[in-house]
Parts: sequence; C-alpha cells; structure tokens
Amino acid sequence: MHRRTSSIPSDVAIIGAGPAGLACAIASIRRGLQVDVIDAMRPPIDKACGEGLMPDSLQALATVGLDLEKELSRFETHPLHGIRFLDETSTAQAAFPANPGRGIRRTILHQVLLDRANSLGVRFHWENSVQDISQPSIAKQSEATLIHTNRQTLRARYVVGADGPGSRVAKWAGLTREVIHSRRIGLRQHYNIAPWTSYVEVYWGPEGQAYVTPISSTQVCVAFIANQKIPTPDHALAHLPALRQRLATAKLRDHARGSITLGRTLHRVATTNIALIGDASGSVDAVTGEGLALAFRQASALASAIHGDNLAAYQHAHRRIQRLPTLMSKALLLMDRHPNFRNKTISLFERHPSLFRHLLEIHIGDSPIRRRTPHLQPNYTT
Ligand SMILES: Cc1cc2nc3c(=O)[nH]c(=O)nc-3n(C[C@H](O)[C@H](O)[C@H](O)COP(=O)(O)OP(=O)(O)OC[C@H]3O[C@@H](n4cnc5c(N)ncnc54)[C@H](O)[C@@H]3O)c2cc1C
Repeated sequence: MHRRTSSIPSDVAIIGAGPAGLACAIASIRRGLQVDVIDAMRPPIDKACGEGLMPDSLQALATVGLDLEKELSRFETHPLHGIRFLDETSTAQAAFPANPGRGIRRTILHQVLLDRANSLGVRFHWENSVQDISQPSIAKQSEATLIHTNRQTLRARYVVGADGPGSRVAKWAGLTREVIHSRRIGLRQHYNIAPWTSYVEVYWGPEGQAYVTPISSTQVCVAFIANQKIPTPDHALAHLPALRQRLATAKLRDHARGSITLGRTLHRVATTNIALIGDASGSVDAVTGEGLALAFRQASALASAIHGDNLAAYQHAHRRIQRLPTLMSKALLLMDRHPNFRNKTISLFERHPSLFRHLLEIHIGDSPIRRRTPHLQPNYTT
C-alpha cells in the first residue's frame, strides 16, 4: 500500500486523541507550536470512566486553555458539590471547599476538547493507527522523527505518546520500566434516573466499590471497581444493597463498558524528543477520580517543556504531579483491602467531618500542601 510522507515536520505529533492527547494539543498550539494529532479511532471516542471531573480537574483544564463551564451551555451536565462515602454502617460526607466539580458524559467531554482543538487549528488524522516510529540517529538529532501509520508517514520534532495504558510509544521509546501498585477491574453503567444528590457517592462493599456520578438531570453514571471480573452490574449490586435499592426502578441506558484500572508509576516518562502523557505515563486507581486531573496538569507541563526545548523539565514536573495522587490512591486501596480499617475510617469521618473535609481538600489540591508544589507556569501566545 502506498503511504504518503509529509514533507514539512510539525513541532509536535501526538499519538492518541483521548483527553490527555487533546489537552496536550490545546496547550501546545496555544504556545505557538504546530500540532498533529493521530488516533486509530474516529470521534466521538467513548471509554469506561466514572465521568466525574473534580474541581481540580476543571482548574487544570482552565490552565490548559479550556473554560469548561463556558462551553457547557451546549450540553447537559451536572454540578458536583462534594464526596460521600457509604458502607454497611456509616455515611461520611464532605463538600468541596470552593468551586463545584462537574459530572459529564465522556463523549461530551471529548467533543468539547475536540471543538476547542479544532478551533485553534490542530490537525487531526483519524483512523490512522500508528504502527512504528523511526528516530533520527544520534549524529542527526536535528532531524525529525518519522511516525508511520497504516495510511501515511508524518514527521515531527517531538512525539507525544498519549496512547493509553498499553502504550506502544512507551515501548518504542524504551520507557517501559514501571512499578505496578494495583490492578483492578472497572465496569461503567449509565442508568436512567433523576440524580438523588449532587455529591459523588462512593459505596464501599466486600467485593469493591461503586461510585455514582450524576451526569444530567435524568442520568447517573456508576463505575464499579473490583479485584475480580465483574460479570454484570447486577452482580456487583448484589454486594451493595443500599445502592441496589436506589437503582431499583432505574432503567439501564446502554451496555456496560469494562476496563482495567492500574496504579502504575513509570521510572521515566521522557527521552530527549519523546514524552508520555495521561494513562500512557502511569496512572492512579480509578476510585481516586483523579485520572483526568493528572492528564490535564501534565498537558500544561509538557507543552511548556516542549516550548522550552527541555523535556527534562517535564520529567521533573510529571514526578511532582503524580506524587500526591499516587499516595492517595494507595491509601484508598488500603481501605479496599482491609474491611476493619475501612469501617473504622468511614466511621471516624462520620464522627469528625472536618477531618474528612481536610483530607478531601488535600486530595483535590485545595490545601497548602498541594499549593506548595506549583507546576510549570503557562505562558501562552493565544
Ligand atoms: C472504570 C474507570 C473509571 C474512571 N473514572 C474516572 C473519573 O471519574 N474521573 C477521572 O478523572 N478519571 C477517571 N478514570 C481515569 C480516566 O478515565 C483516564 O485517566 C483517562 O481516560 C486517560 O485518558 P488518556 O487520554 O490518557 O487515554 P485514553 O482515553 O485511553 O486514550 C488513548 C487514545 O489513544 C489511541 N491509540 C492507542 N494506540 C494508538 C495507536 N497505535 N495509534 C493511534 N492511536 C492510538 C486510542 O484510540 C485512544 O483514543 C477512570 C478510569 C476507569 C478505568
């Protein structure tokens, strides 16, 4: 098959048009860089996700260059005002300290990011599956990297792997040394029901968690997370009677969609001209609700590093961005693994709501601990 080769290299070729790739494209083009984005699929791209954007995710997205609240008049979404933990005996809750979060259907989030990237002039190559990349020899570092897809060959100074947890870019770049802290199964199901709360509810049971995110006035998204395969949402609900009762009259809106959720740290996320972002660069367990916030923060840091021709700065920023969410992820998984610890913790939070509120503030970055670790500051041209 004849494949076209682009003659003029772009500044950045981003492989993967999920939220991480799109956010990186927006942040990069706003710095005056020329950007190509390549994805094997065609939009709208859906994926198993809890569909909750915490307040810090929205803040990170604003830094990237997208004021989500402004864009949302076109779509129905749902504000999120806090987090509630529920187990067999206790209920603890904490409100977000300042701004709300947002429950948003994954396909809508994708559309909003895509519209913004298109309006800024990002070039998209859909249904292009990247098969390989050829790096310039050490003697010719000034040359571009070749990105071979099933349809064409593109050239770019920098390559970004935003190709998700099984990243092939990571393999081609030799960035696969990793530590896996946790590996669990996720199953997402939408239900037709008017949300009964504007809090994200996390139901803790003996077989895992289910977290419920209101995403419109008629729909909630439930993400079931467990250590073993979840055959159907009903199997998971059998261990969560309070949630089963809530959803007793609700109709399933679509087919359930599954995915693996990993707690994963990579030893390195960048070479001199290739960098990883989003789930390709490591991840935290889904129950943290922080996956997208991480991707958006990384996007700003990476665009800044590419703009400054210094991917080492991204390596440092990435480590800093990942540190606290990884710690939180480990703490939440301790609650998953040890029922006594979980029961005592939720009961403690119920009796001392200020303690829960304080931890939530740290988790979403609204505390002095997180504010002391600034990320690279943006300096945009548009
Ligand atoms: C069950 C579950 C619930 C979750 N809930 C939440 C939540 O409530 N809040 C939150 O913030 N996070 C949540 N997360 C995490 C969040 O969904 C992820 O962090 C996020 O999807 C990562 O996006 P990404 O762009 O890195 O990867 P992806 O969305 O996986 O995108 C990767 C893209 O790369 C493309 N691609 C891959 N290989 C190639 C190739 N060779 N050539 C071309 N294209 C390629 C794919 O087609 C895809 O479009 C959840 C995760 C799970 C599993």
